[in-house]
Amino acid sequence: MRITPRPWVAALEPYVPGRPAPSDAGSLASNEPGLVASAVVATAVGEALRRVHRYPDPLATVLRERLAGLHDVEPDRILVGNGSDELILLLVMAYAAAGGSVVVADPSYRLHETTARSLGAGVRRVPLAGWAHDVAAMTAVPADLCLVANPHNPAGTAVPARAIEAALPAARAGFVVVDEAYVEFADDPAETSAVRLAAEGRLVVLRTFSKAYGLAGMRVGYLVGPPEVVTDLRRIRAPFSVNALAQVAATAALADRVHLDRTVAWVRAGRRRLGELFERAGYRTIPSQANFVLVLAEDEAGLIERLLAGGVSVRPGSALGVPGAVRVTVPGEEGFALLERALMGPGGRAAGAE
Ligand SMILES: *Cc1c(COP(=O)(O)O)cnc(C)c1O
Repeated sequence: MRITPRPWVAALEPYVPGRPAPSDAGSLASNEPGLVASAVVATAVGEALRRVHRYPDPLATVLRERLAGLHDVEPDRILVGNGSDELILLLVMAYAAAGGSVVVADPSYRLHETTARSLGAGVRRVPLAGWAHDVAAMTAVPADLCLVANPHNPAGTAVPARAIEAALPAARAGFVVVDEAYVEFADDPAETSAVRLAAEGRLVVLRTFSKAYGLAGMRVGYLVGPPEVVTDLRRIRAPFSVNALAQVAATAALADRVHLDRTVAWVRAGRRRLGELFERAGYRTIPSQANFVLVLAEDEAGLIERLLAGGVSVRPGSALGVPGAVRVTVPGEEGFALLERALMGPGGRAAGAE
């Protein structure tokens, strides 16, 4: 006898990671920062290795208190998770699984939609308007959860927090979840972030250490929201999901403001440079508030092959719900050199765009 998964599980495709590039510098498919993590992280993790015979603190108390200080909220409004991916899973589990519903953008961050489907929640999609979230249209849909990635992935656009604030009173979703994985990179993070609205009860904000802090491999994210939400998620989460080294790494990274500022400055300048490079090669790009740029390319497959031949991997738009595009992460200096050569050829001419 063969065991078969639940029908909504069988309907899903396994996650397809970005294609590996021949070198680290050319890996521009997964939005990891072009700069490595702060050096203080390695020192802190090295010391913490001596205590790995102990279970981690289930509530990540030290990190949680630092985050509470950063956002000027009580620690009971914060929950640390195994990447924001775990928190998305827990939110859907608690509030939309088994017959509930979520509303997402079209296109959306894939995980928002696949998590909902994998737990038997219905999904409604609301198209972007001019490549940005149509927050009014999304919140007008009756649903248990409204999942907004701000800045948006893969478009890279951002909506101001006041647009979300304006939509809240009439919102028909039980909760609005604002996934702010890239918010540190926005031109004005304070205007963009909805974290100040998380006190009011209808909104939850997700943040991550995977992007601006350069700790994607450590798997740490957190939620800021009403204490009741934190309590509900604690009912269902695996208590030790955030390992001891990850907690120490995130706490150390948080203390190195200089490194964060350097990464953010690099990304802000880099995304402009990335946009200009592709425009020079004959492509249109969407202005970005994140650490990647969406490049519109009718010859999606051809562009991907050409870049790969030059040692650069990017994410195909067709895998992200935007066929006819590629998503390119802001590289480090070496990655820019590879990209420039792959796109423009040795003579500085666009090699493939007619
Ligand atoms: C990269 C990304 C995340 C980060 O997920 P982690 O699990 O924290 O690594 C979350 N949301 C969006 C929209 C992302 O692009």
